[in-house]
Amino acid sequence: MNTLIDPHGRSFSYLRLSITDVCNYRCQYCLPDGYKKSGQTQFLSADEIENLVSGLAGLGLWKVRLTGGEPTIRKDFTEIAARISAIPGIRRLATTTNGYRLAENADLWRKAGISAINVSVDSLDQQRFAKITGQDHLPQVLAGIRAAQRAGFEHIKVNTVLLRDINDQELPAFLEWIRTEDLSIRFIELMETGTNREYFERHHIRGDEIRDRLQALGWSRLPREEGAGPAQEFHHPDYRGRIGIIAPYSKDFCNTCNRLRVTATGNLRLCLFGNGGHALRHLLQHRSQRDELQQTIAGLLVQKAPTHLLHFHQTGTTPHLAAMGG
Ligand code: SAM
Repeated sequence: MNTLIDPHGRSFSYLRLSITDVCNYRCQYCLPDGYKKSGQTQFLSADEIENLVSGLAGLGLWKVRLTGGEPTIRKDFTEIAARISAIPGIRRLATTTNGYRLAENADLWRKAGISAINVSVDSLDQQRFAKITGQDHLPQVLAGIRAAQRAGFEHIKVNTVLLRDINDQELPAFLEWIRTEDLSIRFIELMETGTNREYFERHHIRGDEIRDRLQALGWSRLPREEGAGPAQEFHHPDYRGRIGIIAPYSKDFCNTCNRLRVTATGNLRLCLFGNGGHALRHLLQHRSQRDELQQTIAGLLVQKAPTHLLHFHQTGTTPHLAAMGG
């Protein structure tokens, strides 16, 4: 039974866990100057992660997504995955990755218990991909997606941030890709963060606009499945793949929030765009602290706000999503 319920009636079955702030990409809207180390940063160890997830699983949480920064940059990524997937109660382990190590590791990660994978692909044009991400990796990322298909992941999704005057002309190319491929593409609306305001003003495309373009091309909205996240799902009879739109600026987006976030140094964040975090790390040192950990998390949930305030440009204390796990 899930006992993680907030005062607005939302229950939390899903943890997005950042395991590192480090990223090897320099995405224009996220880390344009690359990752910069600040101070002595020790990210959560595999033991601390195991204590955190088993505490949450005991409260009814059943899905975990490893993110970052770039989660697969950690040398112990496979071990972390294997340890989480062995925790009783965890039914789905997912990761979000830029895919730079996927081609040679897809089988290993699948065997470690990861069943769902989101791979970020902001362009299908090699030069544009390199310009947006700072890395000329498109061929190896696409090879990674094919390797994930062969390795038998249950869910493979592509994350694409559509950016005005940068890659939005590629919408037809993305659709063509999934005419025959059984992939789900998530078009993520660009979000404003503490460090990208000017970029956001120039390149933001509203989720409604993406939806209208899809509907004009014959895509239709699927009914929302029980317990599904905030994506609006679309299908088209002539296409094998599906589209999801993640539109954080749309009305009622936060009503279906089902996720908790923990940073790579062990702070619980009740909202991606909230202020501050609640330190949990001191409660992750021994299994014997499990009761205290569970009581602390359940107690903090009363503070969860009904909605983010992005519409008012209040981006909270998140400088960019690499520091929080997007
Ligand atoms: N490094 C991994 C990756 O590339 O997928 C995981 C972390 S990354 C922060 C997760 C996702 O957040 C990526 O798909 C990225 O494109 C997206 N993202 C980062 N900053 C964003 C922003 N300001 N608005 C919308 N999406 C963003």
